[in-house]
Amino acid sequence: MIKRAVLLILVAILFLALPGPAAVRAVDGLQVLESRVEVDFPMKVNFSLSATGDTDITDIRLHYTVDQMSHAEVISEVSLKFKPAILVEVEWSWDMRKTGGMPPGSRMSYWWTVEDARGERIETEPTVVQVDDVHYPWRSLSEGLLTLYWYNGDESFARELMDTAQQALVRMASYTGAELENPAEIYIYAKSEDLLGAMIFPQEWTGGVAYTRFSTIAIGISPDSLDWGKRAMTHELTHLVIHQVVFNPYNDLPTWLDEGLAMYAEGSLEPVFVNLLVQAINEDRLITVRSLSSPFSAYAEESILAYAQSYSLLDFIINNYGQSQMLELLNTFREGSGYDEALQKIYGFDMDGLNGLWLSYITR
Ligand SMILES: [Zn+2]
Repeated sequence: MIKRAVLLILVAILFLALPGPAAVRAVDGLQVLESRVEVDFPMKVNFSLSATGDTDITDIRLHYTVDQMSHAEVISEVSLKFKPAILVEVEWSWDMRKTGGMPPGSRMSYWWTVEDARGERIETEPTVVQVDDVHYPWRSLSEGLLTLYWYNGDESFARELMDTAQQALVRMASYTGAELENPAEIYIYAKSEDLLGAMIFPQEWTGGVAYTRFSTIAIGISPDSLDWGKRAMTHELTHLVIHQVVFNPYNDLPTWLDEGLAMYAEGSLEPVFVNLLVQAINEDRLITVRSLSSPFSAYAEESILAYAQSYSLLDFIINNYGQSQMLELLNTFREGSGYDEALQKIYGFDMDGLNGLWLSYITR
């Protein structure tokens, strides 16, 4: 707090010391005639501006910032290309295929700066843009920190999903101590095709997606795939909670821990995973904990085994060491700790040590 006050005073002094025209000053001649924005979800946000002055306009910049969990406010700046003139119109599209997408319900804000040949400069007030998926007639249901959006199925369908989500949060807190810290949004698409249409680079097997920095999840669930949907929603919701809890600028989580917690939250391991795990144990081709700390393989079978092992690792850790140590582990990761260091600090073994203990647990 004190640091921030000192910083603000420093900024103020620097500002006073600046020679020449103040950074923001409206002048009679130079003015914005029209500023427009149009969201083309999920691919683009289109901006346009027309401005006029009594001398040539020479510089136009668009500034924007996205509302998401971050460690520092990131403001993007785009310098528009145009021919200097007294009346100018410019357009610019933010193409999310180049930058990565935003989930439905996210927010951004933008403003323009316009400068003329005499060095006069105006800056527009920031405008907030709501980035929604307007292809569907969303209804919503809120409880505690969760809001669920859906458009297919009746109220009881949404209620059942909300109850499942609330129970998942309670259960997760009981074995990890981790709780949702900020509001989270759940978007329920009617089917996976609809969900894929809301994503920039969907993979065809995507059933659900967690936008952890936006505290938003999106899943395709039809009323006749409710059982699958509840598991998928619980899985993605776990990612949101864990990422809120460990959010730090230095380090991420080992993949086996992130995915293992999400798999463990779903409930007992499904047969397809169990079978592959048993087979890998018998054939002595398990993946090491150290390898499971990196992103999982893109090959289906190898990836199923990675998820199955992650579940089993969490099953081992939670059953043997309990909730309070899991919370301490997450809090250690929140401080930006390395993987081996965090395990060593809380449990007294590193990733190789965990690998050995876990092997004797599953082959006992
Ligand atoms: Zn996952």
